[in-house]
Order: sequence, then C-alpha cells, then structure tokens
Amino acid sequence: MYYFMFDNHNSKNQAIDSHNDYDREICDNCGGIYITYKGIYNFRIMGKLYDYYLNGESSVISEKFLNILKKNGFTGYEISGTTPYHGNVTMEGDPIKEKYYLFKVTGRCGLVCDMNGEPLPHCKKCGRRFPFTGLVTTGVSFDTDSYDGSDLFAFENMSNIPIVSEEVKNVLSKSKLSNLRFEPINERIINCAIKRERALKRIEEGMACNELIEAWLKYGVLTEQELNEQLSKNEN
Ligand SMILES: [Zn+2]
Repeated sequence: MYYFMFDNHNSKNQAIDSHNDYDREICDNCGGIYITYKGIYNFRIMGKLYDYYLNGESSVISEKFLNILKKNGFTGYEISGTTPYHGNVTMEGDPIKEKYYLFKVTGRCGLVCDMNGEPLPHCKKCGRRFPFTGLVTTGVSFDTDSYDGSDLFAFENMSNIPIVSEEVKNVLSKSKLSNLRFEPINERIINCAIKRERALKRIEEGMACNELIEAWLKYGVLTEQELNEQLSKNEN
C-alpha cells in the first residue's frame, strides 16, 4: 500500500507563501502555469508550529522531520533554506527561531493513472493533469516500471504531494511528527466533474486543447454531435 502525505490544513493552521521571487513559465499547449521559486523561501506559519506543511506547490519540514529522514537514510528529496515568520494571510509577524526547510520531493513514479493503470487525461506537452475532464472516480495508481524506487516520491504531474510506502509511513508515524495525514492513494477521490454548458463555453472561447476535448468525449461530458455543432458555430 502507498500513501499520499498531506498536512491537516485548515483556516487556522497552515503555511502561507510570503513575498517570494519566482520564475514563471506557461505551457503554450494547455495554458498550465509553472512557478519556480528563487532564493531563500519566505513563508508564514499561522497558529501553532508543526513539523510539516503542504503549501500549494511547496512543502516545508521542521528540523526534527529532517533529522528523522536522515537517520533512516530515506531517499528521494532535496531541501533548501527558508525564512519562516509567524503571521497570517494578511500580516507578517515576528521571525520564527526554529529552523524549517523547503522540502522538494525528487523521487518519481510517472504520470497519475487510474486504478486500471491508464494515465488520467493530461497535456501531451507538459504532462499537466486537467482539473475538469468529467472523470469522477476513486483511487489512483502508478506504473511500477516508471517508479524510480525512492523512499519519497511523487507523480510527475502531481509533484507537490509526496507519496510514501507503508514502511516509510510507519517510521514517520512512530516518530510522532505533527501535522501529518496519510491517505491511501487507492482511496483518493478524483472529482473532475464539469457541466456540458461549461465545456461548450470553453470550446467557444478557444480555451480547450485537443487532449481535453478527447477527455470530454471519453467521459460523456459531450457527444460527438454536440462537439461538432459547437465547432461549426465557432467557424461562423
Ligand atoms: Zn501543457
């Protein structure tokens, strides 16, 4: 069994991005936006200090967490320095004395697949998984041939959420690290529902790439006829 490693995110407990320098790239096929932070990562922690935060595209871990990873010789991650502050969404407070590290999972297991091992609809150019494909299902899986064997790893197109084996999960759980929440990857609910009208609207606006339209046909959001009617309207 494999598990996603989430935090216990809520409105009073989270880490928030704080004035970081970044590079931005946009995929010219699907419009996906990719952000790479530059320099020391600044962030704020709301509420009590915990050992792990999953903050959108980036995770941060405490020194205690890092020591446990090192002590067990776990592979599949990189760390870099951060400047943590207390604070909330609108305000930056005092600096935090405890050390935190930006935590980047480098282990990989290929593209996100459904439980039959078929990759979920994604951009052929950048691999981004589309959020509104019409697919509603439970559970994801990976192709074992694409898994590099790292202790900590992630899907290529869901690279912000770390995945661990049962064995690694047990070590982390026993280490009493705070703010960790494990969810079996085969129980993850994928809800990419979209209404027909919205899909048609996106085609009308020229905001749907071919892979996305294929997914809408595959998962019954649109029929061939509805698609063709919309495409001929677009031409007029
Ligand atoms: Zn793309």
